[in-house]
Amino acid sequence: MQIKKNNCLCRIISAVLAIMILCTAIPMNVSYAAKKPAAATINPKAFNFGSMPAGVKTTFKKTKIIQTGRAKGYSFRLTIDLSKWEKYTTPKQIVMMSKLFWQTYPQMYKRFGTRNNSPRNVILAVENEGYEVAEMYDNFVHIHDTWLFYNPTDYDCLTHEFAHLLQNSWDGTKLEYDDYIERFADYCRFVYAYNDGKYNDEVWELQKVSTEPTRRESVRFLVWLDYYYSTPKKDMIVSYFKVCDGGKYKSKNWKAAWQKIFKGSALEGQSISSVWKKYKKSGFAKTSSVAHGKEKSALIRKYNVRNKIKNS
Ligand SMILES: [Zn+2]
Repeated sequence: MQIKKNNCLCRIISAVLAIMILCTAIPMNVSYAAKKPAAATINPKAFNFGSMPAGVKTTFKKTKIIQTGRAKGYSFRLTIDLSKWEKYTTPKQIVMMSKLFWQTYPQMYKRFGTRNNSPRNVILAVENEGYEVAEMYDNFVHIHDTWLFYNPTDYDCLTHEFAHLLQNSWDGTKLEYDDYIERFADYCRFVYAYNDGKYNDEVWELQKVSTEPTRRESVRFLVWLDYYYSTPKKDMIVSYFKVCDGGKYKSKNWKAAWQKIFKGSALEGQSISSVWKKYKKSGFAKTSSVAHGKEKSALIRKYNVRNKIKNS
């Protein structure tokens, strides 16, 4: 299967409060299928929601599926809007997307989203419309109806989109680089990938330092920071999230912002450039994250990143 570079190239329409992010990740060989006649009323029998997490209740409306439940100590509501669904995405894939939501979003919400009132009432629309592959604004996530038709296991593009829901008060002009919005969403995609990368790791690669040679570009740098320097008392990525979310630092003052992020960790007092050099020299920065079949990637075999981070 083709390995894609970080397959999200997002455009931010409005950076403050209502960030709208368009994630365009169309492989060169994809052309959108012609429209089929509009979808009829949903047939509940086509959907097998029998294996949802305990307590998640599913209700069918004419063109929507509504799920409510509690996870990680919070109540959530997921509305799957199928009013523009033309059945390129299969019912089985839609069930899978809802499982991914209930597994990934509550974990991410508990760690990050309680700080800025991120949404717990989320709309996921599967739409055969001519706009982007995936996008989000406010509490709304869109996935193009043909995306999974052409990329049948790329479910974790939604982990990335759900992570964007947590960033609803990030201001790109108050980040060192506004690219950090995407770096954070991809950090989440890697760490929270459904069932420890069951689908993700064959189709999406955490780039090595050779192909993401600066902190502006690097997703792996965040994973490394977290893996080596987060402790039960000090969560490096929560600190990073708070600084990004707080809007306190102008982009030119980010040397101080990094100091704030490192404070209370083993990196306290070190400059961002010296920390980056440490990362660059590490074996972690150079180890492949690509999985083949059921075999885990070299990175995951050597560094148990996801378990360390999720269980800390
Ligand atoms: Zn994105």
